[in-house]
Amino acid sequence: MKHVAVVGGGISGLTAAYRLRRLLGDRVTITVFESTAAIGGKLRTAEVGGVSYDVGAEAFLARRPEVVALVEEVGLADRLVHPTKARAKIHAGGSVQSLPPGTVMGVPASAESVAGVLSEDGRRAVEKERSLGPVELGEADVPLGPLLRTRFGDELVDRLVDPLLGGVYAGGADGLGLRATMPGLATAIEGGASSLTEAASSLLPKTPGTAPVFGTLTGGLRGLLDRLLELSGAELRTSSTVRALTRTPSGWRLEFGAAAPSHAPADSPVDADAVLLAVPAPAARKLLDGVAPVASTAFGEVELASMAVVAFAFPPGTELPDASGILIGAGERDAEGVPYASKAFTFSSNKWAHLGDAGPVLVRGSVGRFGEPGALNGDDDSLVAAVRADLARLAGVTAEPIDTLVTRWGGGLPQYGTGHLERVNRIETAVAEVPGLAVAGATLHGVGLPACVATADAAARRIAEQLFV
Ligand SMILES: Cc1cc2nc3c(=O)[nH]c(=O)nc-3n(C[C@H](O)[C@H](O)[C@H](O)COP(=O)(O)OP(=O)(O)OC[C@H]3O[C@@H](n4cnc5c(N)ncnc54)[C@H](O)[C@@H]3O)c2cc1C
Repeated sequence: MKHVAVVGGGISGLTAAYRLRRLLGDRVTITVFESTAAIGGKLRTAEVGGVSYDVGAEAFLARRPEVVALVEEVGLADRLVHPTKARAKIHAGGSVQSLPPGTVMGVPASAESVAGVLSEDGRRAVEKERSLGPVELGEADVPLGPLLRTRFGDELVDRLVDPLLGGVYAGGADGLGLRATMPGLATAIEGGASSLTEAASSLLPKTPGTAPVFGTLTGGLRGLLDRLLELSGAELRTSSTVRALTRTPSGWRLEFGAAAPSHAPADSPVDADAVLLAVPAPAARKLLDGVAPVASTAFGEVELASMAVVAFAFPPGTELPDASGILIGAGERDAEGVPYASKAFTFSSNKWAHLGDAGPVLVRGSVGRFGEPGALNGDDDSLVAAVRADLARLAGVTAEPIDTLVTRWGGGLPQYGTGHLERVNRIETAVAEVPGLAVAGATLHGVGLPACVATADAAARRIAEQLFV
């Protein structure tokens, strides 16, 4: 009987634990060590206004197969739902408009598709992109912002691309890498597309609107975490921070930080035959320091964006705009020239039919962009006040909430800058040289849930192969 220690009880760690059990059956005991008091990491289903409501990640990309397949595999297909037909809006150029369909994260397949959010000059700049000559991409990743600004002009980036990227990475185009965040566009260019417009066009579905783009689970994403843990048969140790990782002649030793309050004695060390790390970059940096120093250094280079989600339950019947939500660009102002603290609102009762029927009217406000703590610096009361003021200005919602919950996600999202792919290559090469060690999670191949699940599957397979060659 071998023992595998999984460090981190987020979606990546729990998927890995589940996959290890599927691969190895009763030949292995599995322990999941989680530093906080509960599993989930960036997935958290809370009670807001008496309704189970996700206040971390709220949905997953259903166009990628990993999460949908996992949900079906663990027997939760009956809880899988897709958004209603409500469309998203965007505050662009000073007013709220429909979010243009037919773009790849704001990179358009035609100037017409984005004309609604651009000035006439902006539209013309986009139109010209096709005739600018080929896009030259070198071996290394290129900064997305400067490339798009040169090809399409600033307006498209500021009004459309940035708000969309901000929703995923909490970072803007100028700090992110093309290959790291939009690999499909780079591949299309390398495959012969003569412009970014043509590359975007080649990536969009030929018959738009046929397949659902996103999915979630009724009752909240917590249902998936619980099921993964249950089926993994793993022992869960919460409030258990792995402080140090060392190699022993036969495997690994995990040492623990003192549980809070800090005077309490630390748990005794635990030995394991293999270790799977599914923790954010700062923890991975620390734990790999003595065992895979090159990987540790690379994890240490990853920058993180902080954000907060302010969840509201309004009285039943509260009127919301006819939309699934509103994105807000960084430079946007209201009619009086006053900026917004929020970067997006999700009108969850409009977006998800099961929440629309739930009773209270549910809304999520998101705050926080990379390098701009802004309203995050204030206390919870001032954050709630700022987000409510935005909601009133943008959507005319002035009702008194019956419940409010602030959830802060300090360092919640790794930034995929131009050095990201090379950094991940360094991490994976260094870890591959250490037997009985694997890494998974949002730092590697995408922050979205499908990408996290993919890394967890791969890490579990690596451990399984190594333990029973
Ligand atoms: C507010 C927000 C909204 C998001 N929305 C979406 C969305 O709608 N759709 C989507 O696809 N993605 C979304 N994301 C991204 C996605 O949620 C995350 O990238 C993903 O959940 C990360 O999962 P993970 O398991 O890799 O890491 P985490 O969820 O960070 O889990 C890592 C776990 O490790 C634990 N840990 C850390 N150090 C130690 C240690 N030393 N010992 C033991 N345990 C430790 C942590 O407590 C944590 O529980 C969102 C992210 C945020 C922050």
